[in-house]
Amino acid sequence: MTPPLARAAAGAVDDDLLELYRTLHAHPELSGREAGTAQRLADALETAGCRVHRGIGGHGVAAVLEDGAGPTLLVRADMDALPVEEATDLPYASRATGTDPNGNEVPVMHACGHDLHMAALVGFARAMQALRGSWHGRLVLVGQPSEERVSGAAAMMADGLYARVGRPDWAIALHVLPEQPEGKVLFIEGTASAGAESIDLLVRGLGGHAAHPDQTVDPVLLAAGCVIGFQGIVSRSLDPQTFGVLTVAMIHGGVKHNAIPDEVRLGLNIRFFDDDVRARLLDGIERIAAGLAQAAGVPEDRMPVFTLLDESARPLVNDPALVRRVRAAVEAALGTERVGSLGPSSGSEDFGAFGTADPAVPLCYFRIGTGGGRLHSPTFAPDPKPVIEAGVTAFAAAALELLRKD
Ligand SMILES: [Zn+2]
Ligand SMILES: [Zn+2]
Repeated sequence: MTPPLARAAAGAVDDDLLELYRTLHAHPELSGREAGTAQRLADALETAGCRVHRGIGGHGVAAVLEDGAGPTLLVRADMDALPVEEATDLPYASRATGTDPNGNEVPVMHACGHDLHMAALVGFARAMQALRGSWHGRLVLVGQPSEERVSGAAAMMADGLYARVGRPDWAIALHVLPEQPEGKVLFIEGTASAGAESIDLLVRGLGGHAAHPDQTVDPVLLAAGCVIGFQGIVSRSLDPQTFGVLTVAMIHGGVKHNAIPDEVRLGLNIRFFDDDVRARLLDGIERIAAGLAQAAGVPEDRMPVFTLLDESARPLVNDPALVRRVRAAVEAALGTERVGSLGPSSGSEDFGAFGTADPAVPLCYFRIGTGGGRLHSPTFAPDPKPVIEAGVTAFAAAALELLRKD
């Protein structure tokens, strides 16, 4: 690593930054409700010398750090936490609760590492201040709300993010990955994460007495047939070499043991890397549900109702040339043994929305190992310092390469 970069990264991750991390961890907030988190992040970025825009697309933050004329690099951290009850014995463990979209009071935890991402973003801002004079251009540091609902990036774009801070020449982001060694940086060329859709399927029949099923059209049996039938879509209608996932994650129906209900509600989720698979999965669900309903004798006006929820994610596709350029810079900074490659993930991520400009913004989304634990688990308790330091170093190495003075 070049001595100035190493010094700047190490200097940025001091006790003060780790205290910010612990505060963020102890006060997590649910998607769309990140008011306190956004304020802490925005204040820290302002203290680091950035010009801060607040309240973009909800609680979104965009902080600008400039050093002369030059290109613009966007760097994103996500801010939201999950309705998970923390079960670690960390002194800064979360005891926070929040109100979920159904109005229920639920425990809240940073179980996806977004607190690490935010700390790395602030450390990066400090490091780039310390490195002033060795880069030129603009950094746009984004605190994104609602990543867990894959909606916050699009909300910031719809609220004119690029009209406020300019269209970036590149956008980069990181996400922690427990399965990889602590502080190891992993790059993905091409598709990095899957697209996703959630579907509500209302299966309707004709309810009646459990002793007289002959006088009913049983939606419970029909829903069971749908759950089984849907599993044939991936296994029988997709090319065996093609990625696709279909999960029925919710099934609700009936209120009494001796009454056949009128309807059963199914909740489905699909994952895909391309639009053709997305269309095949959605068509298959509608076709099979309608066909099975018809076979069960459901009246024409009680056919299943298919609703695509407003929770879509596009597949996230990294720009291979940008990935190679950033990777080379990170390898030079950390050494090749601390850098690796990954294939696409079946998880989803809405960072891709920052690429949807005209012309498209090249993206590089990479991962950093935490050396153990599981994401979204109540026991996720990474050692923050080495992970944040790796994040700051990787961001700064990328920025010094992309915004370098020739
Ligand atoms: Zn998550
Ligand atoms: Zn996450």
